[in-house]
Amino acid sequence: MLKNRPLAALFLVLLLSTASPSQTLDKNLHDGLKSISASEAYDVVKTLASPEFAGRLTGHPGYTAAAQWAARKLESWGLKPISGKDRYLQPYPSPYTVIDKAEMTILLPEGKPDAGKAQSFKEMKLIPEKDFLPLLYSDSADRTAETVFAGWGISAPDIGYDDYAGLDVKGKFVICFRGTPDADKKYQYHDEHRTRMKAARDKGALGIIYIYSEIASNPNGDWLEGFTPAMISEKVMDAVLKEVNSTSADLKKSLTTFKRPISFPLLAKIRLAVESRHFPQGVGYNIVAYVEGSDPKLRRECVVIGGHFDHTGEHMGLLFPGADDNGSGSATVMEVGKAFAGLARRPKRSVVIALFGGEELGLQGSTWFVDHVPGPFDKVVGMFNFDMTGEGDGLWGAVSAEPAEFGKAIKEADKSVKVVRGLGVIRGVGVRGSDFAPFFAKGIPSASLGSNGPHLAYHQTGDTIYRINPDIMADAAKVAFLAAYSWADR
Ligand SMILES: [Zn+2]
Repeated sequence: MLKNRPLAALFLVLLLSTASPSQTLDKNLHDGLKSISASEAYDVVKTLASPEFAGRLTGHPGYTAAAQWAARKLESWGLKPISGKDRYLQPYPSPYTVIDKAEMTILLPEGKPDAGKAQSFKEMKLIPEKDFLPLLYSDSADRTAETVFAGWGISAPDIGYDDYAGLDVKGKFVICFRGTPDADKKYQYHDEHRTRMKAARDKGALGIIYIYSEIASNPNGDWLEGFTPAMISEKVMDAVLKEVNSTSADLKKSLTTFKRPISFPLLAKIRLAVESRHFPQGVGYNIVAYVEGSDPKLRRECVVIGGHFDHTGEHMGLLFPGADDNGSGSATVMEVGKAFAGLARRPKRSVVIALFGGEELGLQGSTWFVDHVPGPFDKVVGMFNFDMTGEGDGLWGAVSAEPAEFGKAIKEADKSVKVVRGLGVIRGVGVRGSDFAPFFAKGIPSASLGSNGPHLAYHQTGDTIYRINPDIMADAAKVAFLAAYSWADR
């Protein structure tokens, strides 16, 4: 899942009416459901989250090895490859960066500034993951520099908002929150990490330093020469803000209440030292397999069951295993594939299993997929996305409002599984979407489901296999199997 996705803001959540009694399923569907195994899904997550695959950063050899492993598994279950040449893998360009080492120290001013004397500082050394992390596309550099606070880090004078107005950031670190003054769509472009980084770089800043309530690994951005962006915790920022008698919470509240820029230079300095390696020629892969439809004409149409396969990698000796995000959704999707592959009677349309690369880098694999629909198919007629199905005991999600029959297929499927707690309507595609977004944007009926959490240790080293509940992944697969079958067999 991408960082800090405020799902609730995007979706209007409607509770399902109490489930009606389980409908009777024919033997074909019953056999499909029976083949979905919670313990097998658990084993898949365990393998994907293992150190061998180095946190599955798209482009990295760890990701590629994991992709090959998943492809072999899908092949062993009898799913077909999408290409004679690349078989189950759909390659696309995917530059990536690995952070080998990073140190960050805040120099807090001691005493009041005095024109006659040099300012003295107290050093506060930050702890990786607890207090700070570089953004995972940082260049290498070791610099100590002055800092400025710049609200949301948005520079958009054309729409009447500029956190940089009157601010000199050349050769300094720009500290800001991630977000926008309000939910107005006009800020959407400026809320992209890439937009914010380039704005700061073009003004001569050394890096953006985001303030996050919790530190989370984040590879969603572009490597920029000489630019070293990072993230600090609100707690660390509170120590910095003592010099102006404020706190992170106060500043954020003022920014959202008044919707006007609040920016000022600080006395505190930052030393940030990063050693990283950038690989501009990286190649990412979607893993794509399918079960051919039974109708000779309709089989060129497909229903996609997808989820992202990637996570944020291994950096500075820290493994980000991504068990819940999104080993779990990957396992759910793979189990659906196995269920379809074993059917005696297949649906009329083809069913495609797609494990996307580059979601954490900004929906890159799914975007590539919709722009390069694999050869065997003319058209995608529906998309079911699974992101973080590993923690909790229920599912919730959202679905395209049109056609109404698409959402009904999920509700109908759930009558046999009884695990969906709420299903909202996808209102639009924001900057914090998941892999349904590129499909939805092309007008393809889409649904996105995840488990009800708590999803603690989000994008942290603690997102391990030990947090995973096998049953919820299998239940998600069962709903997907039944809903996709009915949608593909119309
Ligand atoms: Zn994620």
